Amino acid sequence: MEKKLFYRSIPKVDILLEEEQIKEAIEVYDRDTVMEAIRTEMEALRGLIRESDDEEEIRLGIDSLISNIVNTVKKMHTPDMRPVINATGTILHTNLGRAPISREHLNRIADVACGYSNLEYDLEAGKRGERYSHFEKLLCRITGAEAAMAVNNNASAVMLILSSMAKGGEVVVSRGELVEIGGKFRIPDVMEQSGASLVEVGTTNKTHYSDYENAITEETKALLKVHTSNYRIVGFTESVPIDGLIPLGEAHDIPIIEDLGSGVLIDLSKYGLTYEPTVQDSIRKGADVVCFSGDKLLGGPQAGIIVGKKKYIDQMKKNQLTRALRIDKFTATALELVLQEYLSEENAIKKIPVLRMITKTKEEVEKDAKRFVRLLKSRKLQAAVCVEECESQIGGGSLPLERISSMGVVIKPYDMTVPELETAMRKLDIPIIPRVVNDTVLMDVRTMDKEQMSLAADELAGILGEEKKVKRK
Ligand SMILES: *Cc1c(COP(=O)(O)O)cnc(C)c1O
Repeated sequence: MEKKLFYRSIPKVDILLEEEQIKEAIEVYDRDTVMEAIRTEMEALRGLIRESDDEEEIRLGIDSLISNIVNTVKKMHTPDMRPVINATGTILHTNLGRAPISREHLNRIADVACGYSNLEYDLEAGKRGERYSHFEKLLCRITGAEAAMAVNNNASAVMLILSSMAKGGEVVVSRGELVEIGGKFRIPDVMEQSGASLVEVGTTNKTHYSDYENAITEETKALLKVHTSNYRIVGFTESVPIDGLIPLGEAHDIPIIEDLGSGVLIDLSKYGLTYEPTVQDSIRKGADVVCFSGDKLLGGPQAGIIVGKKKYIDQMKKNQLTRALRIDKFTATALELVLQEYLSEENAIKKIPVLRMITKTKEEVEKDAKRFVRLLKSRKLQAAVCVEECESQIGGGSLPLERISSMGVVIKPYDMTVPELETAMRKLDIPIIPRVVNDTVLMDVRTMDKEQMSLAADELAGILGEEKKVKRK
């Protein structure tokens, strides 16, 4: 093969710059990024000529040089973070961004964040204020705690609490509660980072009151309870509930800290779910400090919320770490909005997307699934389409055993494979993430809204329709 000829047939840069498509790209974007794309794509083409022994492939590479340059420029200017349609039925999908924020709240956040705000400005006094002031009273009112604050996520909340209350001392934790949460958050490691030393007590399945009692020394700075949010120990088990530890803490003047993980503010057992301890319960039973995530069952922005006795919260507000972990204006605004919805439980269930999805009834999801199938059938897809029962899950390391009975739309394509369909759905401009079950694509409607179902029907018609628009990328 005459590789030299191929090298010679690569157009020179000044020739490329005369091409209509390239000129257009320079006009729409700018010269610098187009030049960068030209260099990148020419380098790739030289690489192809060097490595490949397939003349056809090389010719194709040379022919597509211009379109590759234009695509590269476009890609450089297109944001990679994008909305996706979650058809997995997993409500708190950590990889898909956990709790969605409502459009109503987002509009308000945009109003606040697009300009200046009173983030740290006390409008009454006309001087510096505190960024927690916007939601601290709300948190106290809802949870019954004396004081509250928030940091970037619950992992940092645990770190800040331990660093403020137990640095240089010992913290007693049950061996049954040495949790690892996704993304390498491990209680023992966080403890080490915070400068407190871990004292493990009990065994994996059983920890008694006396285990805690015997572990207390002069150095003990706190007793820590960690909610085993993403696993359950069942069978021959025993643990000491928070109220069981209170007398021990009081007798030795040692504070009790609880990491609740999910941050449930309403009793979900009323809606058919397994009872999850609420933050209010924990405070009422006497926990000194409680922390939880903002974007798990609470349904708000990513945050680590800390509530409890004022003297401890004040210590945390003064800790240097707080400056490194502080929330921004987006989070502060979103937290206040979401917490306000909790002033009425009925309202929270209606307005907070996560709670709305969890409490959708069987009748509602069935109606949605039937409507979605009608939409798909009207588009005459080259596929078998039907409604089927399925199970949604909470996800995000909350209620790991819980399955919510739901309805899905099952698609079995006629002339492509299920992996091909799944890939095509994932590569849409607004990607659709379904479940693949028994060699079919299943879309659980619990995590989709009506608008998304219409959009998904259009997109699926593009992929599987009678006149397949050449939309597959
Ligand atoms: C999820 C969880 C965390 C971590 O919370 P993030 O907000 O994800 O940082 C910590 N502890 C428990 C018990 C959890 O369930």
